[in-house]
Amino acid sequence: MIEASCHCGAVRMEIDTPPDEVTRCDCTICRKLGVLWAYYSPQQVRLTAARNATLVYLWNRMALEFHTCRTCGCTTHWAHVDRNYHRIAVNARLMEPAVLAAARVHELTDTD
Ligand SMILES: [Zn+2]
Repeated sequence: MIEASCHCGAVRMEIDTPPDEVTRCDCTICRKLGVLWAYYSPQQVRLTAARNATLVYLWNRMALEFHTCRTCGCTTHWAHVDRNYHRIAVNARLMEPAVLAAARVHELTDTD
């Protein structure tokens, strides 16, 4: 198990496994956020955060919720508005540097 947390610690995630690969996505929002995504099934990630600890920005035809810590401003994860969706993404930059360093970086180019 690994952990990820925003800078102030208001948003924490426990994750079953470290990522083998992280994705640097070149889409309009991800390149501005500067995130590296690690994809998981929702069952693999346990989020600990107070209600309203994150700001939510809806994007991708209003289907994806991008969560940002309301206190320190770190983008923490995205989740689909449909909670049965098979995938969520954790910002791997919130993981320990050694965990991130061990993962391959996949470059995803997408003009969407
Ligand atoms: Zn924070």
